[in-house]
Amino acid sequence: MGRLYIQNLIGEKIFKCKYCRVDSASHDDIISKDFRGRFGRAYLFKNAVNISLGPSENRNLTTGLHIVNDIYCSSCQQILGWRYEKAYEESEKYKEGLYILEKERMLKDGW
Ligand SMILES: [Zn+2]
Repeated sequence: MGRLYIQNLIGEKIFKCKYCRVDSASHDDIISKDFRGRFGRAYLFKNAVNISLGPSENRNLTTGLHIVNDIYCSSCQQILGWRYEKAYEESEKYKEGLYILEKERMLKDGW
């Protein structure tokens, strides 16, 4: 294990990890706010930083079967959401490679 490298995002509207306050994602990278996570509302992002991914697993979501990786904060290891690795339904393919972050686990710092 190397030294933990924390990436800082540029911009006025940055979502941070609620638990350790490192940057997680930029408001500019939101694709949709209309998702549901484990803990309520969740946002779909095209990018996320300071995360580590869990193993790929099949998961049945409300929109069908997907292969996903859980997303953990790389600083404090709290689970923040998941990443879509593969969607089986043609209509869900746009989500592949995108990130779901739980609203409940994010902090809006100063905005
Ligand atoms: Zn954290």
